Amino acid sequence: MGSPVVDVAILGAGPYGLSIAAHLGKMGVPYRIFGPPMQSWQSMMPKGMLLKSDGFASSLSSPDNSFSLEQYCKETGQPYAHVGIPVPIETFIAYGLEFQRRLVPNLEQVYITSVKQHPAGFALETEQGETVLARKVVVAAGITHFAYLPPLLANLPKDLVTHTSHHSNLTRFKGKKVAVLGAGSSAVDVAALLREAEADVEIVARANSISFHEPPVINRSFLQRIKNPRSGLGLGWRSRLCTDIPLVFHAMPRKFRFRVVKRHLGPAPGWFVKEKIVGRVPMHMGVNLEHAEARDGRIHLKVSAKDGSTKELVFDHLIAGTGYRVGLTRLKFLSDGLRAKIHAVEDSPVLNRSFQSSIPGLYFVGVASANSFGPLTRFAFGSEYTANRLSRHLAKSTVSDTVLEPLVAASV
Ligand SMILES: Cc1cc2nc3c(=O)[nH]c(=O)nc-3n(C[C@H](O)[C@H](O)[C@H](O)COP(=O)(O)OP(=O)(O)OC[C@H]3O[C@@H](n4cnc5c(N)ncnc54)[C@H](O)[C@@H]3O)c2cc1C
Repeated sequence: MGSPVVDVAILGAGPYGLSIAAHLGKMGVPYRIFGPPMQSWQSMMPKGMLLKSDGFASSLSSPDNSFSLEQYCKETGQPYAHVGIPVPIETFIAYGLEFQRRLVPNLEQVYITSVKQHPAGFALETEQGETVLARKVVVAAGITHFAYLPPLLANLPKDLVTHTSHHSNLTRFKGKKVAVLGAGSSAVDVAALLREAEADVEIVARANSISFHEPPVINRSFLQRIKNPRSGLGLGWRSRLCTDIPLVFHAMPRKFRFRVVKRHLGPAPGWFVKEKIVGRVPMHMGVNLEHAEARDGRIHLKVSAKDGSTKELVFDHLIAGTGYRVGLTRLKFLSDGLRAKIHAVEDSPVLNRSFQSSIPGLYFVGVASANSFGPLTRFAFGSEYTANRLSRHLAKSTVSDTVLEPLVAASV
């Protein structure tokens, strides 16, 4: 017997993978979905973090909006507001897991170790050694492969230097002197939580100051609403255009798109973190990290200020809040041959209006699609647009299950 070929394989069960699966299920499109559910949220972000996105912008996309975060909070008796009550990460994870149990019960909680082209479409290997054949593959691997450490820090011992994504539990730093590098949202969240975990924490950053989000104003005048409309990405016309017309963004020149994705919605920390940081966590702002060295079991940093002066700072540990960078070359599960054939710009896949790469049947969603569809797809809010559009596209080109005989290994 040959192997059955499934129409769609989804790689990744974060907000995007789960949302797309829920829509395909409702449409009756045969699919399989792989990966641990909500894994980035469970193991790459710190416990105790509050989401920056508003309540109304923090739902996964369910068919007919049948299971929103609001509904989950109502059912479980947890506080919820569209705007104004920050969502704890623990609530968001529990909601995502419940979404999976109800709408995507067929999730297979195994990693995919390789994706290759095959006469049937694609061959995926699971970590348990199963070969799965699929006509189409949706890569919904999120941020998990994209944590970025500057070259200066990349080769230092892991017990002295880590990335924010390495920590969900910060209690092990109690009593330790810890530097957090960066002034963006991940860095500042971790600094605030390190302080709560009784670490002796200091922020070291190139920025001159930290620009926190403004607290939300709930009852806004008509004029305020016109001047500064609300969207799932925050206030302002730029964000509103990003959420409402991603296909217009898709049609813009590449230089413009890349610039907007880099610059718009920089990683400003949430308003609610300000009081935990300002006046409480010492900061070395406006400094450049020149050198980092492990010595005598500690990490020694040489930083320079804009006036040219330098100083040495010594810590038990450095956590780099240096963010994430999309890079196809970092998706090691793509076979070398397949990756080499994907048309990419700055290592980011070029996608058509249906999220399809230059390889027919291979799709990328979430942050990996941001250079094509805009900042919207960096956030859970973008799962609504993506899941609706992509599932309709996949349903149109559905072919019923067949059996391939014999199974030809066609590694690309
Ligand atoms: C500190 C921090 C705070 C954030 N706060 C917010 C916020 O408040 N609101 C918001 O909307 N967004 C926030 N984000 C962005 C957030 O990452 C995205 O919104 C969201 O995770 C996108 O969902 P996703 O499904 O694309 O990716 P992910 O949530 O990253 O999910 C990807 C999934 O793919 C799986 N996977 C990866 N490789 C494989 C493989 N080989 N086989 C099988 N499975 C695989 C992973 O296990 C993971 O579960 C934040 C990000 C960070 C880092």
